[in-house]
Amino acid sequence: MHTNIRCAVVGCTNPVIGQCTGYQGNCGKFYCAQHSDGTLCADCASQKAADEQALAIQQDYVQTAQRVEQEARNLALKTHGFLLLVIGSIVLLIISPAFGSAASLVSGVCLIGAFVAVTWYDMQRRQFISQLVAQYDKTKPDFSRFYAEWRAEKNKQALVNGLKIAGVIALVTLAGAASSIAEDERRSADYARLRDAVDDELRRRGL
Ligand SMILES: [Zn+2]
Ligand SMILES: [Zn+2]
Repeated sequence: MHTNIRCAVVGCTNPVIGQCTGYQGNCGKFYCAQHSDGTLCADCASQKAADEQALAIQQDYVQTAQRVEQEARNLALKTHGFLLLVIGSIVLLIISPAFGSAASLVSGVCLIGAFVAVTWYDMQRRQFISQLVAQYDKTKPDFSRFYAEWRAEKNKQALVNGLKIAGVIALVTLAGAASSIAEDERRSADYARLRDAVDDELRRRGL
């Protein structure tokens, strides 16, 4: 063996037992039995361990974020205010024919009740989310920040999908309108303009 071949760890004089196969790329450093893990040198092994740990934390945080939303939904559904509004609206709707000429007015009140119930539910849900996030933040470092970013990412995705769908619908509608026009050139110009508009909108929102 070549005399220059030494363990890559500075000052280590242990006999070399192999050459690193690299983690996410080439490495080629030599390692001793003490400063290696499998076929990886100490640096690559710790890099791999750090990545695995980061991935595990990320998975745990994503699962926790999903659990927070689920729990908040369940808690909000069970709030007294929400249940009272829903039950009250349903009961009122069922007995509304008994009000005779005022039946439609009563139905209107039910609609308002349903609207308030939905608003109430959403308010409660948000409140429960912040409570749960604050709770998890105590045991999981920076969870609140993670949750905010995760939520923003989800909203952004929903927005992108929404815009894409809106763009497709607009294109389809335009295609229908344009098909009755003989001028093919104008049609494709409209297409291009609309496509550009959708692209611009996406770009403007930084998506
Ligand atoms: Zn060594
Ligand atoms: Zn290595």
